[in-house]
Amino acid sequence: MELMLAVFSLLFLFATQASPPLDQVLKYIDDHQDDYVQHLKEWVAIQSESGSPAKRDDVIQMIQIVGERIKSLGGSVELADLGNEELPNGRIIPLPPVVLGELGKDPNKITVCIYGHVDVQPARIEDGWATDPYVLTEKDGNLYGRGASDDKGPVLAWLHAIEAFQALKQELPVNLKFIFEAMEESGSKGLNELLSEKNETFFSSVDYIVISDSGWLSEKPVLTYGTRGLCYFFVEVKCAKQDLHSGLYGGTVHEAMTDLIGLLDSLVNSSGHILIPGINVDVAPLTEEERLLYKAIEFNPEDFKNTIGTTELLHESKEDVLLHRWRFPSLSIHGIEGAFSGPGAKTVIPAKVTGKFSIRLVPDMDPEKLNNQVTTYLNRVFAERRSPNKMQVTLKSGSRAWIARFTDKQYVAGRRATNKVFGVDAEMIREGGTIPIARTLQHTTQKSVMLLPIGGAGDAIHSQNEKISRGNYINGTKLFAAYIAEISQL
Ligand code: MN
Ligand code: MN
Repeated sequence: MELMLAVFSLLFLFATQASPPLDQVLKYIDDHQDDYVQHLKEWVAIQSESGSPAKRDDVIQMIQIVGERIKSLGGSVELADLGNEELPNGRIIPLPPVVLGELGKDPNKITVCIYGHVDVQPARIEDGWATDPYVLTEKDGNLYGRGASDDKGPVLAWLHAIEAFQALKQELPVNLKFIFEAMEESGSKGLNELLSEKNETFFSSVDYIVISDSGWLSEKPVLTYGTRGLCYFFVEVKCAKQDLHSGLYGGTVHEAMTDLIGLLDSLVNSSGHILIPGINVDVAPLTEEERLLYKAIEFNPEDFKNTIGTTELLHESKEDVLLHRWRFPSLSIHGIEGAFSGPGAKTVIPAKVTGKFSIRLVPDMDPEKLNNQVTTYLNRVFAERRSPNKMQVTLKSGSRAWIARFTDKQYVAGRRATNKVFGVDAEMIREGGTIPIARTLQHTTQKSVMLLPIGGAGDAIHSQNEKISRGNYINGTKLFAAYIAEISQL
């Protein structure tokens, strides 16, 4: 009997030891998922709309809660003051502070810095939400609510992953730093200056920066290593000092709209090819290895086409669609200010019209150089029209593309963590849109930056019925825990 007991306890000991520490953490996360959903419900209930001045108190409350959460994990927190914001009506309101947090200072461990934001886009039930946007509602495995996916869910997932290690009395395998803001949806006012100011101090000990503020491409988890930049142009044409009646003046004046349509039509052809000379000169050449990366990605152009509701795309193959979405520049015409656009048939000749278009930039395009190319070209096209009107091109905003060094160790850790939690290889993708913080953080700190998103492909961020699936939220929490474990071993 005694022998049997001894064997039994030995077996028991073996069984406990055979369950590796990370597996215990992942199990703990699974077991506590209802708590995590409850926490998300509490966060979603705070209407932290950074673009709505009337809600500024909620935004400030939200970021303070984040600071308190980090303190409750044992971390230290600085609420970095960014001063005030002046509204268009002249009113001055305070900007929410940025949370700079730190947890662990062991010189023998590497340091990972996490970025996220806790402000949200505005949301009203009248906009067409099926449920109150500020009451997290679970339906068919999805958690509906403003900020559930962008970006409160991912921020909480990081904090829960850390809590899980602590609850099991496991030493955190890395030092952590946090940079959480609450003005992301409103242009991150003051953040760039803060990053530069903190570069020599806060960021000096950081090894890797992880951003969890985007989404997957399909049902498969991803690591995102690039985003496109954006140059937004206005082209203004003026033909008269005020709007004219087409019956009285039509046939006598060089009309501004006619000039503008000609100018806009010269920018891009019907195949989507940008006609501005020299625009592709700086685009980094596509290598064979890169093309192979695209071949491996799970993406169905047919589904993509159907989601859009169109009958034909500009490109046919999966690779070409993705390359033109992420890897090559694109030009879109957005609108004409000053043009008649209401219902009915108004016989007006607009006196001044402003065409608005933008170009998505890819590595290694430079906004200043692009501005010169666009201005020179449009001036030439306009000169050829021999119009007496006044024309002016203005670059309204310009940001470069971001591309990571995706051979960096943290991408290896990201892949391993994905395999561990999801049992599949992570897709290596880029984003067609712009996430300025990725480039800013990499450019300012010169550290390795990775986007590790947990949002799903159809989360409807910024839109009605934003959601994150319970699966993505909980497995995403596990992914972050696994990432911490994996990066510490590289
Ligand atoms: Mn976001
Ligand atoms: Mn957003």
